[in-house]
Amino acid sequence: MEIQSLENLRATDKLSLTFNPYELGSRMASEEAAEFQQRQIADCDLTEGVAAGTHDSFERLRTVFAYGVLCYDVYTLVGDQALLIYEQALRDRFMEWCAGSITFHVPQSPDASFPVVSYDDVQGQAARMARRRAKLAVGTSAVEFNGTLHGLRRWARAADLLRGRRSRMVEDALAKLRNHVAHPAGHHVGSPVEAAQSVRDLAELINQLWGQTTSGGRLYPAPLHREIAVLSWNDAGRVRMEHAGALALPDPTEEHEGDGYQHVVVRAVPFIPGSRWNDDHWAEFDTRYETTRFPTQYLWGPGTREEARAWLELEHPEGDSVDFTDRVFLIRNHGRLLPPMRAAVAAGLPDDERVGTWHAVRADFPDDAFAHVRGAEDRRAGHVRTPGDCPACSAEVLGSGSYDEALRATTAVLGPIQAVRLPSVRLPSSIFWPDCR
Ligand SMILES: [Zn+2]
Repeated sequence: MEIQSLENLRATDKLSLTFNPYELGSRMASEEAAEFQQRQIADCDLTEGVAAGTHDSFERLRTVFAYGVLCYDVYTLVGDQALLIYEQALRDRFMEWCAGSITFHVPQSPDASFPVVSYDDVQGQAARMARRRAKLAVGTSAVEFNGTLHGLRRWARAADLLRGRRSRMVEDALAKLRNHVAHPAGHHVGSPVEAAQSVRDLAELINQLWGQTTSGGRLYPAPLHREIAVLSWNDAGRVRMEHAGALALPDPTEEHEGDGYQHVVVRAVPFIPGSRWNDDHWAEFDTRYETTRFPTQYLWGPGTREEARAWLELEHPEGDSVDFTDRVFLIRNHGRLLPPMRAAVAAGLPDDERVGTWHAVRADFPDDAFAHVRGAEDRRAGHVRTPGDCPACSAEVLGSGSYDEALRATTAVLGPIQAVRLPSVRLPSSIFWPDCR
């Protein structure tokens, strides 16, 4: 190989300078690029309590990332290394979880427990147990576990250390990439954008494994804050969403349009310009169906602005926070597919609205659940029809059949369901969900 001078080693890599927040093709100054790239991963700190080995590997990765401005190949190495630390984190967390002993359910034999001091011990026992078709005991359930990344992922889900339906698909993709890195089939080059994303995803995964969600996270987001909001609409089809506090002020449109608006008070994720957590479907709100992207809770209405103001002054409802991942939706097919419903609303339906075929599906978003059920109508699309994770999308099937069967499958995962009967209120402009009746 060619020996480089220290001066050359210290020089910035021109390729690294082309990645910047400005227009394509422009280059940043070296100083600026060094700072810009480090800022991309500066805020993804690990929570306290993360195992020392995982913690040190992650911090080393963040340190090395900064050197990408001097050598572009560093970004490929960082991306690859992040995938290997993904497995290390699962192993370290497993060792903490098992606290020195693992137990297997062995077919036609008593349970077998083994002391373990290192992950090598775990792998050795798991491989032997897998040959006997034994399953690893995880709380009240049991999973196939042979000590590989595949088994570790099953264990982490069974132990409720990882959550979310969309994140499960990302975990699938990460596992495939990890196998590619461990057994490379060809040359690949990663960009600083991809490397930074890998580091950020890894930080989210490690923090989630050690019980910490990520505020604004892509994979394991923290619960979202909901505020008290007023949704209103008029006969001309105009809709608006206001913070409840706005009702104390004079209505700017009142003079021009009269008070021809109907109002409902809800708890909803507030609309913040530029936020990735805006609910693009807030104007689809319907008390019967989960037609908004994030959970929107009906509180009062419909009524006039004056009545809404009076109710707010009397009740003083407050905001809350809501976890939108792993929600359970019930979808009814009665001649046509109706939008997803919350279990509590489905449980309160009158008899004549229970007919048809029902699907109980777990998903992060109502449109994910709906897309799965619609997709499963075509057998060639590869969506699963029996209970379990769908290989073709992020949904998990809980059960389907009659109304009672679907509700039983729902109760099995949610526990007893408290039925609610809400007044039927629906904003007029449902474009995304046209078939609501
Ligand atoms: Zn599916």
